[in-house]
Amino acid sequence: MTKRFVYADNAATTQVSDEVLEAMLPWLKEGYGNPSSIYEKGRQAGHAIEDARKKMAEALGAQPQEIYFTGCGSEADNWALKGVMHKLASKGKKHLITTVFEHHAILHTCASLEKEGFEITYLPVGPLGLVTPEQVAQAIRPDTGLVSIMYANNEIGTIQPIPEIGKICRERGVLFHTDAVQAVGNVPINVVEQNIDMLSMSGHKIHAPKGVGALYMKKGIVIPNLIDGGEQERGRRAGTENVASIVGLGRAIELACADIPGKIAKVTPMRDRIIDALSDIPMCRLNGDRNRRLMGNVNMSFVGAEGEAILLGLDLRGICASSGSACTTGSLDPSHVLLALGLCHEVAHGSLRLTISDWTTEEDVDHIIASVKEVITKTREMSPLWEDIQNGKKKISLGVE
Ligand code: PLP
Repeated sequence: MTKRFVYADNAATTQVSDEVLEAMLPWLKEGYGNPSSIYEKGRQAGHAIEDARKKMAEALGAQPQEIYFTGCGSEADNWALKGVMHKLASKGKKHLITTVFEHHAILHTCASLEKEGFEITYLPVGPLGLVTPEQVAQAIRPDTGLVSIMYANNEIGTIQPIPEIGKICRERGVLFHTDAVQAVGNVPINVVEQNIDMLSMSGHKIHAPKGVGALYMKKGIVIPNLIDGGEQERGRRAGTENVASIVGLGRAIELACADIPGKIAKVTPMRDRIIDALSDIPMCRLNGDRNRRLMGNVNMSFVGAEGEAILLGLDLRGICASSGSACTTGSLDPSHVLLALGLCHEVAHGSLRLTISDWTTEEDVDHIIASVKEVITKTREMSPLWEDIQNGKKKISLGVE
């Protein structure tokens, strides 16, 4: 019997779709002109980039001239935070507000800004992984230059009240950036209606290639150039463009945002079927709010089963999943996101993240459920912690300590 392959790690990355690849191929072959060249071959490549920019803008409710293509989501995050803070420092605004459970592209950028003398407030996210607009309102000070709050968390999938937070920032005259790398294509986004000044996104989460992303920056915001050099990206990020990937990104966002309600209607019941079935396993918990979470995100902890062992067991059964985020795999520290919810180390260590998509089938879901149940049972059979729990030597609380 051939092993069933199930890809349930779409928050880590996604497969390039046939439609995206088809759109890209001409720009890797005959369409090799430099977009800055004035002859037709160059102009064609330039037009292809502008067409992708239009698609990006349309998907986000922005204007094309407000979209800047970048090398990845991390680059967009770095540029937004460092750019705004460096610009506003001269006006005495040296305070930034973010959350404790952002992606490292934000947290490490904040750490770097702190070394330069900027002050950062890290808002707690509560046991369900949600920030409230009131928390943001209370944290804003006269010297606050920027609020940066992720749209949806990459590990637990919780969706933040972005329009409400944006409204507060606007009322208080503070710029608002959101890392929407996990949200684009999963949540309907309109930067105007949702009061967003700056937004980061990444191609490889929406079936475009790795190594391409974008920063939306509202018209009128001026921050230092990311790369000085040529006139590419209106002089703000120099360097000959990655034409094929940008074209792929344009096609990918067009497809990803074409019918978000339809995808939600299809994927949410599959996600809930997984959560309900796995909740039968003793000593487990769902991490993050049950309802305000991305359509494809399941993040659960199974006490007495190590995350790494679960992943290896699932891999043997053909399932790609994750424990914490892909970026922190290889580290033995429990995920900062799960710790931010208030979980103890034992519970955080036994976490499993499954991120399904509209490519997932009901048969895939059956295979996931059966395999996770089997793997947790087998992993616990080898766990001294589980043995101690079973014979009453150790007590572990599943909730917040
Ligand atoms: N922000 C979030 C929330 C992410 O999930 C990721 C990637 O996992 C990034 C930023 C970084 O994106 P990229 O891999 O394109 O640099």
